[in-house]
Amino acid sequence: MTTGIALLGATGSIGETAQRVVARHTDRFRFVALTANGNRDALSKAVAQWSPDYVGLVEPGTAPLPAGWGKGTDCLLEAARHPDASIVLNAVVGAAGLGATLAAVHAGKRVALANKESLVVGGALVQRAARESGGEVIPVDSEHSALLQCLAGRVGGDGPGLLPVQGVRRFIITASGGPFRTWETERIRGALLADALNHPTWAMGKKITVDSASLANKALEVIEAHVLYGVPYDRIEVVVHPQSIVHSMVEFEDGSILAQLGVPSMELPVLYALGYPDRVEDVGVPRFDPVAAASLTFEAVRHDAFPTLELGVSSGRRGGAAPAVFNAANEQAVARFLAGSLSFAGIPAAIGAALDRLADLPGDDLPALLAADAAARTFVQEFR
Ligand code: NAD
Ligand code: MG
Repeated sequence: MTTGIALLGATGSIGETAQRVVARHTDRFRFVALTANGNRDALSKAVAQWSPDYVGLVEPGTAPLPAGWGKGTDCLLEAARHPDASIVLNAVVGAAGLGATLAAVHAGKRVALANKESLVVGGALVQRAARESGGEVIPVDSEHSALLQCLAGRVGGDGPGLLPVQGVRRFIITASGGPFRTWETERIRGALLADALNHPTWAMGKKITVDSASLANKALEVIEAHVLYGVPYDRIEVVVHPQSIVHSMVEFEDGSILAQLGVPSMELPVLYALGYPDRVEDVGVPRFDPVAAASLTFEAVRHDAFPTLELGVSSGRRGGAAPAVFNAANEQAVARFLAGSLSFAGIPAAIGAALDRLADLPGDDLPALLAADAAARTFVQEFR
């Protein structure tokens, strides 16, 4: 019997990676549901390859849909609850993925989670749902997959977090540093879109690529690590590692540090989340050659040049609606940067102003978090 997977965001960078990986393991996995936002052609291609039971296109436009296809945001929820799916691979980008994560966890599924924004915006809600339903979240993000691999045998039992861990002194989360790692601070402020999209080590969707240039992505990941593993913020460090080979490290109580290494490819983290806790034999995942790599280097984050990181981490420490405000403000600022109506320096400026105004909004339940999210988007849209 193969394991059924609902793939949300099938046409994106992670969605395509997941299709490539599963194509090598059709003896173990199959796609039972596929969704995309608006890319009908890419979705049709995936449907032709996988013949899923359920297909959803969130924004179909005006052309009529093929018979049986779902549409609108409800199709994400329907795919997330599909009875034949044991695993929901959430590869949607942005807070738009939160509802599906919650629906899948509520339905008792394993969520293989690429959509880190789910945990940043609604970490406490996802945790409550998991406790009530027996659903679980296994990270796809490479840093969090690395942490999970280093933590083998130490996950479980009582403690905060979706995957409570024992005996950890410190997480060291690595960051490539993005395309502006070596740029003067003033030059970064005026960076152009083409510069920001020119990532040195990873090929990804546009939003996360801009987030990697501003280090907003690393802020989201620090919060994601805190929510997943329950490790306090003062034990989570970020270190710049330009080669993107060491995907993160765990320091244990005796001072020993374990790291997980591999070439920068999302194929392994996707496969690991699908097969966890087993390792699935795969000769297709690109291999790392230490001699060819020759040297791995590490350096401190330049917080003055990348203020978005600290804005995000402090929103996580603050809790409540603050991380939802940070995330929504960032999403809207990135959308404006992509559209050419905000400078690169405008991203942290808009986020900082949104947090000053909105971080204390209530954030106790989903309606409150969605209201904070909407308020932050409106604020940043009007930010000058
Ligand atoms: P992408 O933009 O390439 O793809 C996004 C996918 O989600 C597409 O299939 C799109 O159709 C769908 N989508 C977009 N907006 C939607 C909406 N409002 N409702 C429903 N579906 C929507 O993005 P990506 O780079 O694949 O990233 C996806 C997620 O994975 C993000 O949360 C990102 O942070 C995370 N992630 C990506 C990578 C990577 O290498 N790309 C690595 C780690 C984590
Ligand atoms: Mg990552």
